[in-house]
Amino acid sequence: MEYAAGCYHKAVWRRLKQVKGSAVTTHYELLVIGGGSGGLAHAQRAAEYGVNTVVAEAGPLGGTCVNVGCVPKKLMWYSAHYAHQIHHVADYGFDVSVNGHDWSVLKKSRDAYILRLNGIYENNLDKRGVTHLEGHASFVDAHTVAVGDKQYTADRIVIATGGYPIVPRIPGAELGITSDGFFELEERPQRVALVGSGYIAVELAGVFNGLGSDTTVLVRKEGVLRSFDGMLREELELAMQESGIRLETGVYPSELRKTDDGIVIKGEDNREFGAYDAVVLAIGRAPNVESLNLEAAGIEQDGYGFVPTNEWQKTNVDHIFALGDVTGRDALTPVAIAAGRRLADRLYNDMTDRRLEYHTIPTVIFTHPPMGTVGLTEDEARAQYGDDVKIYESRFNPMRYAFSEEKAPARMKLIVTSDDEKILGCHVIGDGADEMLQGFAVAVRMGATKSDFDDTVAIHPTSAEEFVTMR
Ligand code: FAD
Ligand code: NDP
Repeated sequence: MEYAAGCYHKAVWRRLKQVKGSAVTTHYELLVIGGGSGGLAHAQRAAEYGVNTVVAEAGPLGGTCVNVGCVPKKLMWYSAHYAHQIHHVADYGFDVSVNGHDWSVLKKSRDAYILRLNGIYENNLDKRGVTHLEGHASFVDAHTVAVGDKQYTADRIVIATGGYPIVPRIPGAELGITSDGFFELEERPQRVALVGSGYIAVELAGVFNGLGSDTTVLVRKEGVLRSFDGMLREELELAMQESGIRLETGVYPSELRKTDDGIVIKGEDNREFGAYDAVVLAIGRAPNVESLNLEAAGIEQDGYGFVPTNEWQKTNVDHIFALGDVTGRDALTPVAIAAGRRLADRLYNDMTDRRLEYHTIPTVIFTHPPMGTVGLTEDEARAQYGDDVKIYESRFNPMRYAFSEEKAPARMKLIVTSDDEKILGCHVIGDGADEMLQGFAVAVRMGATKSDFDDTVAIHPTSAEEFVTMR
């Protein structure tokens, strides 16, 4: 097999059609597998630099984030958020009566919005001259990818296939749904259990609870979000319990069973929970690699199936790169996008040092109230710096609860080195935390110290000002 494209100048580029047996092979400079956050970001940036690019996508454009992730999730979060707000508006003089909530109306609006986004993504590809192939891609060899009954060759190939929700191998697991199934629900189930202790379990628990479901979270260890700072976990669990979410700890599910009353979850210790109208399994995600035929291209995987890369997003095969969730690094949309854009900048725009540094990545969990974090947790800081660590903490009731009996406290923590007070970690839970953290993440990345925070004039009256007034 010959690969002729490398000798084609961009300005005189035309597609090469080559007959290989019965299959017609089309050549591109860049072939991206996966039209989600990372794949689209990379393909579009490369096309802006004049690279002849094709994206193969098996599902709707936009990937997990747009179709079954961040975007529809945040819309559901808003709905639950409004449900919480409504309780407080009477304190401000409004005479409001709420006569219920129609989940199906919310779903219809949400689905229509996502459909509009899918169209916008298609237009974005068109505008940049990126070819969109609909279908599953799999490697034929290190330079050839099959999509449907056609084959495509490329100088460079980028794997950006994301991940899918893991379903535990226990009897009756098929009675549960995953986050994908959550977005298909036509009605709100009244009694819901969420199995898992990560982002998705706590976020979806907040949605169900906010909109009126009787909600239980079943975790196998001692609490939720164990990799987060202890202060955030403690405050979140208090807030969850205060709002009526039940937290069951030490539950290792061993079976799901259908009864006349609903789905029952049995633990390894024979405790039973339920019955529930819906069980959401949210125990992590695995890489989308099964159908890629990575072996044909000689691409290595780690023990979990992820495609590891070096710091330049390169796999063990020189011209094949990987980015986003499939690499097993921080599974967040902006991480996939940043990796994709930087890779294109480096490969196609001579920005030779450009790469994503996987540190001080901020993240927000859309709970009620939301929480956010950037930098080290207290445990991580103490492990790295020993006693050379100082902690500033604050807990207060945001002003918006001034008139109400029910409060939702905010809590903040700054972790600094004890000599020059460089900020190592910045953590917040409370109303507005989701919008608050981005700016502080810039400061932390720039190496800000506590005195930089102290020297910044506060914005009053806000919750965020607490970060620059802590003593
Ligand atoms: P994806 O967006 O998953 O895109 C991969 C694409 O590849 C998919 O469209 C898939 O169909 C396609 N594909 C797979 N295999 C093939 C193949 N063989 N051929 C062709 N196409 C293929 N992150 C945040 O930052 N903020 C949030 O609030 C947030 N909320 C989330 C909520 C939920 C419920 C979930 C599940 C995730 C959430 N995430 C959030 C994570 C975020 O969605 C992912 O980190 C992000 O989508 C990863 O982008 P990606 O490009 O790596 O993969
Ligand atoms: P997570 O990795 O966040 O959490 C899953 C947790 O479930 C594990 O940490 C583990 O916690 C527990 N678990 C694992 N296996 C089992 C099991 N067999 N039985 C019971 N519990 C188990 O996964 P999610 O699915 O919640 O989310 C996937 C990723 O998507 C996130 O890590 C995040 O990167 C991204 N995401 C981001 C969001 C955001 O930015 N706001 C929102 C949603 C997702 P333990 O060890 O404590 O039991």
